Order: sequence, then C-alpha cells, then structure tokens
Amino acid sequence: MSLTDSTSKLLPVLKKYFGYDSFRNQQEAIITSVLDKQDNLVIMPTGGGKSICFQLPALLFDGVTIVLSPLIALMKDQVDGLKANGIPAAYFNSSQSGEEQEHIIDQTVKGLLKLLYVAPESLAGLTNVLKEQYVSCIAVDEAHCISSWGHDFRPSYQQLGFIKKTLPNTPIIALTATADKATRQDIVNQLQIPNAQQFLTSFDRKNISLEVRPAHDRVGQILKFIARRPNESGIIYCLSRKSTENLVDKLRLKGIKATAYHAGLDFESRTKVQEDFIFDKTQIVCATVAFGMGIDKSNVRWVIHYNMPKNIEGYYQEIGRAGRDGLKARALLFHSYGDVMQLRKFAEGSANEEVQIAKLDRMKQFSEAPTCRRKILLSYFGEFLKKDCGNCDVCKNPPQFFDGTVIAQKILSTIVRIKEVEPIGVIIDVLRGAHNAGVLEKNYHQTIKTFGIGKDISWNDWQHYVIQLINQGYCEIAFHKNNVLRLTAFSKEVLFGNTKVLMSKPLKNEEKIVVEKEH
Ligand code: ADP
Ligand code: ZN
Repeated sequence: MSLTDSTSKLLPVLKKYFGYDSFRNQQEAIITSVLDKQDNLVIMPTGGGKSICFQLPALLFDGVTIVLSPLIALMKDQVDGLKANGIPAAYFNSSQSGEEQEHIIDQTVKGLLKLLYVAPESLAGLTNVLKEQYVSCIAVDEAHCISSWGHDFRPSYQQLGFIKKTLPNTPIIALTATADKATRQDIVNQLQIPNAQQFLTSFDRKNISLEVRPAHDRVGQILKFIARRPNESGIIYCLSRKSTENLVDKLRLKGIKATAYHAGLDFESRTKVQEDFIFDKTQIVCATVAFGMGIDKSNVRWVIHYNMPKNIEGYYQEIGRAGRDGLKARALLFHSYGDVMQLRKFAEGSANEEVQIAKLDRMKQFSEAPTCRRKILLSYFGEFLKKDCGNCDVCKNPPQFFDGTVIAQKILSTIVRIKEVEPIGVIIDVLRGAHNAGVLEKNYHQTIKTFGIGKDISWNDWQHYVIQLINQGYCEIAFHKNNVLRLTAFSKEVLFGNTKVLMSKPLKNEEKIVVEKEH
C-alpha cells in the first residue's frame, strides 16, 4: 500500500476510533509499513504517539495483535481506554485467575479480540494461541527492555526471539523511546528482525523549556517554583526513596498536595499514587525513577530533577513526561557535584562500569554547558539542530565571558598549598575563609596562605568557577582518590601567568526568575 492510497483509508479509522483529525510525526508511514506486513522498529520520544502505530493496524487486520508490555500495573487502564473507544481488547497476565485466562484464550481463538496486552513472562500460557491463524501482528512495547545495555533491562524480554521462529510471516513492530545505537541493534538482533524498517522520529520536544540551576537550597527554590504555578501538575525526581519522602514532608508542611512514589511501596499504594495523579487529586509526585513509565497524563506542566539523573536517556525520558499535550512545559534540573560523585560511586563496580561512567560524563557535560542545552541533548540522540533553540536557560540568558585568570589562579594556588588532598567543597571553604569543622580540624585557617582571599564571592559562584576550570582541563577530580581536586599538566600555564582563562559569569537566580515570568 502506498502512502497516498492509504491516507484515504486510514484517516476515517483514526477519526472514528481515536478522535484525531490527522497523523503526527511518522505515524502514517509506520502504520502503512505494518499493514504491508513489514517488521518495524519505531523510535519515538515519550508522548510522541507510539500506541496508535500498532493499535490502528490492529483494527484493520484479521485476527489479534498481541502487545507485549512490561507494564502490568497499567494494562487494565490501557485496555479500558481502548474498550471505551469501541475497540475489543483484553489483557493477559499473572494478576488474573486461571478462569479469567481461559476466557481470554477462548475469546482470542474465536476472533473476538483486536488487541491483547500480554506480559512477556505470561507468554508461555498462550502457546495455543500463538499461531498465525489467530495472530495478525506482534507489538513489542518498551522494546529497550530487551537490552542489558539499556536502563530498564527485563530478563523476560530476552526470550522473545522465539516469536519470529514460531510466527515467521507475522509482522513485528518494536517500539521504544530509547534511541542509542547499541540498544537499537540489540532489539533487532534479539527479535530476529534484521530487515526491520527503522523509523527514527525527531526527539525534539520544543514545548519543553530546559533549565539547569546550582543545587543550592533546593527545597527553598522548589517552594518558590511551585508558589508561582499553584495549580500545575508536576513530578519531582529524586535519587533515593528516603529523599522522596523527606521532600514530600517538607512540601506538605506548606500545604502542598504532594505524594511520594518509589519501588518500596506495595502494589496497591503505587497504583493509588498513579491514579490520584492522573485524576488531578495529587498535584505533585516526588518519585524515584520507578515512576512514570507508561503513564499517560497529558497535562504534566513541569518536571524537576532534585538530583542529577545518571544518564541522558533517563533524563530525557523523565522530562518527556511533561507537556504531552503539546502546550508549554518546563524541565528544571538541579546540578550538584555531590550527586555526580554519588552516581559515580554507584557506577563503579557495576557490570558495565565504563559505559555507565561515560554516560554520566555526558550528563555532566549537559548540565555544565555554556551553549544551547537542547543542541547538546539532541546531539546525544544523533540529531543536530542548525540553530540554537531559544527555549533553554542558556539561550535566554547567554553567558557573558570575562577574563577569569585571577580567579583561576586563586583556585589553583589553593589546590597547590593544600597539597591536592581536598575535594571541591573544602577548597571553596578555604577560599571563602569558612570556620567549619573541615577547615578547623586541619588548621587550614592558620596554615594556608590563600585562606579567606575569596570572601567576596559566593559559594555557588566559586563552584561555578571551579567547574569551568575542570571543564577547561586546568584541574581535575581524582575520582579514585576520594574525589580530591588536583592539578593537571595545564595548570602551570595558568599559575605562572602565561595563559588567559576565559570564564562565563554565573547566572543569578533572580535573573532566571525574569526568564520564567516571560512565559
Ligand atoms: P507514547 O506511547 O509514544 O509515549 P502515546 O501513544 O501514549 O505516546 O501518545 C501520547 C499522547 O498523544 C496520547 O495522549 C495520545 O492520545 C496523543 N496522540 C497520539 N497520536 C495523536 C494524533 N495523531 N493526534 C493527536 N493526538 C495524538
Ligand atoms: Zn537553547
């Protein structure tokens, strides 16, 4: 079927069952390819509209489309949604009784279902149904779960290779929002669909503004942020279960309707949090990364990262939960060096340590970049913007550069005098002449000549300058030696005054607030 032939047939179906007037992105081309019985790999960002790519063909095929999905918790909602649109659908998973499962099998065999959602680990129970006379298409949703390279690996996904052998003439459509090449290759290999058509949709979500701020008084900043948008739904991602709960306590004290969500909650509580959020009973969810996969809530207006995510895929997927309705939305990330070090510790000793650390480094580069953030983000997914985006903090407040040589010399000479044995925090405390335990115990206030020479500059601004020195290669963090700051081969050039160091001025939060008011 060619694209023009298909339009006249497909649009009425789209309108009738889904209520939309036109296709988005590459939906139409994908649907046409599925109807042609090709295998397909669809990479589309969260909120891009993947579901219709298999739901619409399912309606036009004879037989049932089996949708493999890891999201047991959401299957019921998904199926209810389809039924409400007049589409015969069901799900099959371990939460059902034997009798219920029998009933589903019976309905499938009788050809009464168009879509059947199945958890991969429950596939074994469907052996009698997995025949080409009954099955029209196989959709593998959240297909990145196949790859141990990805961030969401599920062992049950690794057994899906048998499908192509069992149903060689049945088209497979694999869908995910994770784009990196290694994952893509894994999906194609493991599903045994080497000739799959690959559809890579733009990852640019223009309606989401991007912003990074130093993680100083995060709770205070978040409270101000929420106060400025009192009725908007949002998600705050934290690194640990404990911190989701602590943050919820602090928000509730101010009368804000916030709830915690993490993998430590039982199934029922988790479902309740999700539902309350979807139905706007809870304004804000403070969550670990366990929250959000597959949640279809179109009016999430903002996503805050209280902690730094461990890689760009995760970050992008999480901020992608904002603004699915296409209206303006915001992503705010707090950048803290403490987080970077903690994430590094997690990565160290893990199975694919090198990969994880490299990914973390990319995340760090994004957070510290003096150039358009969207450009950096999209380039990670292999997409290159010609122009700056105009909708990130850097574009709205381009950094001003100045001669930071003296500042650089102060930092580097403090590192020298302290004999390269202290991390960033202590170096800054010494520069600022702090009288805290870390300084006093080691007598730095008496022994270090540069003690207190930087009182006039705030802690945050010092951190901003140190980060720039690190990024320009004039000093480095020794991650395997307690994260101490030490010199590099280039430090001398600055210390002895042969090299001028350009630095960007730190942005004040006040300035950022002006940006916020504009939209
Ligand atoms: P994904 O699975 O890629 O995250 P969904 O399939 O859940 O995205 O779609 C995201 C949102 O976009 C849903 O609310 C969906 O109803 C809506 N949507 C999908 N296709 C279209 C379209 N062609 N026109 C308008 N809205 C659409
Ligand atoms: Zn930009």
